[in-house]
Amino acid sequence: AAWVKQVRDSAMPRGTNGMSILVTGAAGFIGAHCSLALKKRGDGVLGLDNFNDYYDPSLKRARQELLSQHEVFIVEGDLNDAALLKKLFDLVPFTHILHLAAQAGVRYAMQNPQSYVASNIAGFVNLLEVSKEVNPQPSIVWASSSSVYGLNTENPFSELHRTDQPASLYAATKKAGEEIAHTYNHIYGLSLTGLRFFTVYGPYGRPDMAYFFFTKDILNGNTIEVYQTQEGNEVARDFTYIDDVVKGCLGALDTAEKSTGSGGIKQGPAQLRVYNLGNTSPVPVGKLVTILEGLLNVKAKKHVIKMPRNGDVPFTHANVSLANRDFGYKPTTDLATGLRKFVKWYVGYYGVHLGVKKENHVAKTKEKKS
Ligand code: NAD
Repeated sequence: AAWVKQVRDSAMPRGTNGMSILVTGAAGFIGAHCSLALKKRGDGVLGLDNFNDYYDPSLKRARQELLSQHEVFIVEGDLNDAALLKKLFDLVPFTHILHLAAQAGVRYAMQNPQSYVASNIAGFVNLLEVSKEVNPQPSIVWASSSSVYGLNTENPFSELHRTDQPASLYAATKKAGEEIAHTYNHIYGLSLTGLRFFTVYGPYGRPDMAYFFFTKDILNGNTIEVYQTQEGNEVARDFTYIDDVVKGCLGALDTAEKSTGSGGIKQGPAQLRVYNLGNTSPVPVGKLVTILEGLLNVKAKKHVIKMPRNGDVPFTHANVSLANRDFGYKPTTDLATGLRKFVKWYVGYYGVHLGVKKENHVAKTKEKKS
């Protein structure tokens, strides 16, 4: 009963716009930041996360702790638990779902393909199945990925470009999510908005991403691997700062139309949208390393290697004019500024002392794997 009260209390809107939002993946990087931003402006927010150990679960617990300080409660459970999802909808008539829970990571998909299918396909379908039945149906904003552009070489990527050449199973499951969303929109009248994020970084970020483990390895004096394409070009990413992405997510939620169905029956045409949320200025990974070296005051030991054919793509570059037109999305943080904020968080979180001694920085390592 205490659990039920926590769920109801935290999901009750306190502001003026009356939104009540289920955030899946709320103990994750983007989910935690979005949950906080929504709560701060007065929306009702309830989190759901299975706290899996794909990367250091203690970082997920730290985000949970931060959220609980702001009275955001995270239910511990899995997307594939239909009974749990139904119970949550019984307790709270959510107006929106911000669906960010997924198995992320491009390379891990080669080691554990089934976890991608389970969370990104089966779990998404389960969430949609429950959502289509309830009355009123929620409007859903969900995380797709820039990886759907795969081997597309048109530059910059626009939403109209081809997405039929995924380079990893992760990308394939994100692409499948877009097709599945289309079906549920078409048949059941669910309002659905897909956001294609481009390499999001910042405080409380993901330890499996390059900017994060480069920071750790540079501080520890370990050699980092910097990728080149098979043709010898530098790999580049459209690194996007978390605060910009949060604004994009909130903009997408605020402009989402209502779903039109109920009880599994469509009553009228419903909205289906897909947007790029990137930074619009790709940076070569070598430049990322140079910025980190400056911020950390340590010279990196680099090993430049040809990119293995493991699912990574040579470059990403977002055209965001659609998101700008529809909800004023405009990224404002350049990589140097954003990384400064990340490093400030990192040294505080792991208790690193910068600039005391140039060699032999030892981070109090909390993560299990990098
Ligand atoms: P994250 O791994 O930090 O967050 C995802 C959270 O979902 C995790 O806390 C995990 O425990 C949870 N989760 C996974 N499977 C679940 C399941 N079956 N049931 C319940 N919870 C589950 O990742 P993130 O970087 O915050 O990414 C959020 C979303 O954005 C994901 O869908 C990801 O694919 C997408 N995305 C992220 C980036 C990026 O650069 N960070 C880029 C493109 C797309």
